[in-house]
Amino acid sequence: MTRWTTDPRRIAVLATVLAAALIAGMLVVAGLTSDSYRASASPYRPNPRSASAPEQGRPPASAPRGPMRAEPPTRQRAYDGPDGTQRVTGTPSMSLTFDDGPSQFTDEVLDQLDKHGIKATFCVIGSQVRSHAAQMRRIVAEGHTLCNHTWDHDFQLADRTPEQIVKDMVRTNDAIHTVVPNAKVRYFRNPGGNFNHRTVSVAQHLGMVPLHWSIDSRDWESKNAKKIYDLVEENAHPGAVVLLHDGGGDRRETLKALKKLLPFLKERYDLVAMP
Ligand SMILES: [Zn+2]
Repeated sequence: MTRWTTDPRRIAVLATVLAAALIAGMLVVAGLTSDSYRASASPYRPNPRSASAPEQGRPPASAPRGPMRAEPPTRQRAYDGPDGTQRVTGTPSMSLTFDDGPSQFTDEVLDQLDKHGIKATFCVIGSQVRSHAAQMRRIVAEGHTLCNHTWDHDFQLADRTPEQIVKDMVRTNDAIHTVVPNAKVRYFRNPGGNFNHRTVSVAQHLGMVPLHWSIDSRDWESKNAKKIYDLVEENAHPGAVVLLHDGGGDRRETLKALKKLLPFLKERYDLVAMP
């Protein structure tokens, strides 16, 4: 796999290519985020494009062949978030995602996950990786997966130029690979979920899936263990991608909520890291 470096010439080339690709990409994304698409609150609402696909259980021989043939419904449903992002796992399994780390709270999150044998996905901030190298190595060694969450949690990344967006994502992935050289960074998440067609396109061009969520624990807002637990418990559903935080502030209430939440979810759902 191509390893992008911070070499300015390579970034300039990629940014130029992306600027052209974005024009085409904008049209595609605009199609993917039509009103009916955006209106969906259910992760299992079928993609409009699959409307003509055969129902499950029908003989596959009736399926149309060639390039028009629909993808398996589970894959289509996964890409059900704003701007063509993925917001559910696409399977009945649930994924917990931890944003804004690595931080001083990451070890305890990892301890709790380990206690219950749960794998999760960590959306890490590039500038924090080096000073928390041990936590990064633990995340990878213990079977969790990684997601790029920008270099410095830039809420306005979507407003930057394609070149700046490329630079930010590449710099973050390079920082991650300095500490965990062979780890895959398969996902990208915009801070605040502020995706747009540019960040989605750049992430995809760099080989990452733009990852949204279907349940926001709002731990960043409430900082209240009971509220965090109740919100996730009430909204839990098969295929959920749950937004939690192991960094970005005092996460003691999230850690407290996890003590009750992890056994609750483990008993009812198959919990997996985003693959
Ligand atoms: Zn964040």
